[in-house]
Amino acid sequence: MNVMTAVRAASDTKTVEHVDVLIVGAGISGIGSAYQLTRQLPDRSFVILESQDSFGGTWLTHRYPGIRSDSDLHTFGYSFKPWVGPPIATADEIKSYMGDVITENDLARHIRYKHRIERASWSSATNLWTVEAVRTDNDEPVNFTANFLWMCQGYYRHSEGYTPDWKDVDKYKGRIVHPQLWPEDIELKDKTVVVIGSGATAATLIPSIADTCAHVTMLQRSPTYFRIGRNAIELAETLRQLQVKEEWVHEIVRRKILFEQDAFTKRCLAEPEQVKKELIGQITAILGPDYDVATHFTPTYRPWRQRIAFVPDADLFLGIKSGKASVVTDEIDRFTEKGILLKSGNELAADIIITATGFNLSMLGDIAFRIDGKPLDFADTVTYRGMMFTGVPNMAWVFGYFRASWTLRTDLVADFVCRLLTHMTTKGVKKVVPTLRAEDHNMPLLPWIDPDNFNPGYMMRNMHLLPKRGDKPEWQHSQDYWAEKDQFPAIDLDDGAFVYG
Ligand SMILES: Cc1cc2nc3c(=O)[nH]c(=O)nc-3n(C[C@H](O)[C@H](O)[C@H](O)COP(=O)(O)OP(=O)(O)OC[C@H]3O[C@@H](n4cnc5c(N)ncnc54)[C@H](O)[C@@H]3O)c2cc1C
Repeated sequence: MNVMTAVRAASDTKTVEHVDVLIVGAGISGIGSAYQLTRQLPDRSFVILESQDSFGGTWLTHRYPGIRSDSDLHTFGYSFKPWVGPPIATADEIKSYMGDVITENDLARHIRYKHRIERASWSSATNLWTVEAVRTDNDEPVNFTANFLWMCQGYYRHSEGYTPDWKDVDKYKGRIVHPQLWPEDIELKDKTVVVIGSGATAATLIPSIADTCAHVTMLQRSPTYFRIGRNAIELAETLRQLQVKEEWVHEIVRRKILFEQDAFTKRCLAEPEQVKKELIGQITAILGPDYDVATHFTPTYRPWRQRIAFVPDADLFLGIKSGKASVVTDEIDRFTEKGILLKSGNELAADIIITATGFNLSMLGDIAFRIDGKPLDFADTVTYRGMMFTGVPNMAWVFGYFRASWTLRTDLVADFVCRLLTHMTTKGVKKVVPTLRAEDHNMPLLPWIDPDNFNPGYMMRNMHLLPKRGDKPEWQHSQDYWAEKDQFPAIDLDDGAFVYG
């Protein structure tokens, strides 16, 4: 079957647009990947399909008070576009930066908003993906065919956050809000608020509402690590005083941050107890020796096993010190009419309860994939370096770093994809399928990520949905930027792990 026959077969009623590359998602990954594609392979046609009505992804979805990055924007921002503000940025600042990237690189004409992809089917007869989307504004189906799918859909479901199944939630008479779907009509003034959770979201939200509420309590089951620092980078300030060009400031500061993060990660592994002491010491220095830091801010796990939230200018801790915010470390027994009954027997009364309890993992955008008519279950596949899957042709997946800025990996994957597409053209092939080699067949297959290495809730709840990992570097998702930045450019595209056709 030739391309046009496939196009007609995909839909009887609609014309089907064909592109070389179809990018899913207009978040920081999708826009960054599109930029790299236009630079490295300017002759390729492409579209970005995005279900929301604008770009930004995470930074568009999350609208709770105080929403900001906890990575610095020199590394969370793109390598090619200098970040000129303070390192920790608000969602609006990140969207504005992404908007500039879209405008400066003429990317808007490639983006189709309000297009939710529901199905994607690979045909080995045509070597094409058929992608079926639905317009979210009028429910109209819109179909595309593409040679290559570049999955930049993030890792969690944007339509709803994760809320545990608590007992008697229906008895509670106040209002329950998940930060991922922040309501516009919420009035916090003089209200007693409980925020459940102590991750980055809680740490951001609490200081920004503490002045408005009568009181805000952070209720956590167990403590989390935090890092405290100034929302400024001295080296950047010095370079700017010296009138060094912003391109240079960005690159130099980026290198400095990466160097320091590498050293910090290594220290977390080599001397976890010392790092733990330092992190907790920062908190004691603010809250004073009488504050019960042992109960509320001393985690039982090693630093870096979960993401460490950065607290700029210590705002969370200053809120606690002022008495406007407080911390309760306890477990929820059940909800009551007035609030939450804790396992200790204490009751926390609240007008509003905010559930900063995390995400629902979304495996590749909740798209129903088929390969030659057969439903694809990613749990049956093995990851190729956390960016492709065995048995799945012509698809790359952008899953960023947890311990370094997500976007660093977007760039590495983009360079790899562009190199792979070029290689396929040179070879005159239409299809590439990651495949276990003969020497891999007895390899033990393990969960996608080692829970001992990194174990956030949304991963642990959904590990059964994720691809498997092997025991060799090429079949693992390493989460190690400092290794991958050298390994990815050196990947041998003629290795037996790539089967072309
Ligand atoms: C509140 C918050 C703060 C964070 N802070 C940081 C930080 O400081 N540093 C860091 O490194 N990481 C941070 N992260 C992780 C963060 O999600 C990533 O860093 C990054 O923003 C992800 O970008 P992305 O483009 O890959 O995915 P997303 O931002 O999730 O964007 C994916 C896009 O794809 C679209 N999409 C998904 N499925 C479909 C479909 N089927 N059809 C069409 N479109 C679809 C979505 O609508 C969305 O717009 C944070 C996450 C959250 C939630």
